Amino acid sequence: MNPKILLVNPPLYDFAAYDFWLKPYGLLSIAGYLRDKVDIELFDFLDRLHPFVAKQKNLESDRWGRGRFYCERIPPPSCLRHIPRYFRRFGLPQDLFRDFLAAQQHCDFVLIQTMMTYWYPGVQEVIEDVRSIWPDAKIVLGGNYVTLCTEHAIKLGADLLVQGTNLEPLWLYLQIEPDLNQPPLWQAYEKLNVGVLKLTEGCPFNCTYCSVPEVYGKFKARPLKRSLAELELLFRLGAKNIAFYDDALLFNAEKVLKPFLDEVIKQNIKVNFHSPNALNARFLTSELAELMVQAGFKTFYLGFESSSVQWQQQTGSKVSSDELAQAVQHLFSAGADPQNITAYQILGHPQIDIQQLEKSMHFVNSLGIRGMLADFSPIPGTPDGLYCREWVDMDEPLYHNNTAFPIIMMGFDESNRLKDLQRKLNRLLPGSKPNVTGSH
Ligand code: SF4
Repeated sequence: MNPKILLVNPPLYDFAAYDFWLKPYGLLSIAGYLRDKVDIELFDFLDRLHPFVAKQKNLESDRWGRGRFYCERIPPPSCLRHIPRYFRRFGLPQDLFRDFLAAQQHCDFVLIQTMMTYWYPGVQEVIEDVRSIWPDAKIVLGGNYVTLCTEHAIKLGADLLVQGTNLEPLWLYLQIEPDLNQPPLWQAYEKLNVGVLKLTEGCPFNCTYCSVPEVYGKFKARPLKRSLAELELLFRLGAKNIAFYDDALLFNAEKVLKPFLDEVIKQNIKVNFHSPNALNARFLTSELAELMVQAGFKTFYLGFESSSVQWQQQTGSKVSSDELAQAVQHLFSAGADPQNITAYQILGHPQIDIQQLEKSMHFVNSLGIRGMLADFSPIPGTPDGLYCREWVDMDEPLYHNNTAFPIIMMGFDESNRLKDLQRKLNRLLPGSKPNVTGSH
């Protein structure tokens, strides 16, 4: 008899959350490698196509498949009580999960994905429920929180922690030989309108505020054949919107993204592509912009952060203001909708004195594209995370919260003033619509 495995994407405890094409890609990839060797069930607290969510009002998806999560207001944790915002639990109700566990045959293993470090209370909730209903199940945690806050994660009481991208300890623990050529198990969803792809791992840069070098290591491309097989599967299952989770999607495009998009066009695969993890404008040539638009890219998120040369140089020099302006021109010439081109800028970074955020916001606006303030989260193990010990206790992951930290660092009024200014600037753009805010 095959072993039984339950995959869980936990609920989120946060001030704000928005479904910006969030899918548990790591968990589904693992399930794909184990295809046909185990019996798999999925409980995704963040699945907005779940029948429970369909019955709620105002949770419809927008035209690109994004939308609000079901949520409940809850008291904030004591260390965040002074943050003047409502705290919530986002995701399917806890009772639904308990009923699901009670109705299922006991699983041998429960694999739980973790993401943001400060979302650990959702992981804790799942562990407690599994322990109380299936006391013999072995619980395995993997993902960003486990990798970045291992000492803290140990205290949650799982049976195994899988750090980083090395899955060997997991295969040994499960005593199963994986088939690494298999695509993610997207069939675990009954309904699918959004999918995720990753053509590459890691990033060649080393920005002082970013967790990617620590979690994913050096840049490397995945085999083209496998990426195409993943896309074909998603297309077949009805996913109309595909978000790239790559951190350096445009790097080495001649060998990675271009051949992929050429195939998409050749095979006449019609989907909408999105880049929530930010594109690096430096590599966005006119030829690449044309190919991306032709192949179906609809939204373009560009990582910019600041127009201050001093700030750019101190944090890793990933992109310059001229490179951003040039990339935007290439996208305009290729026919991309200016309303769907967005530049991220960090709000609440500890080097705010040299970041010149307001000037930077006006610069982005002058290019005729939208700006989005990405709330800064201090990440342990990064130079900026280390520096943030001056403001918060970095050993408590709740303090990494990206709504809380900018308020702690710069004050509630200043943080609100800048957010209001961003909304005002976006409204000034021709053809502007209500703002979409979210975490990514
Ligand atoms: S370029 Fe982007 S992904 Fe790479 S290290 Fe910098 S912020 Fe992270």
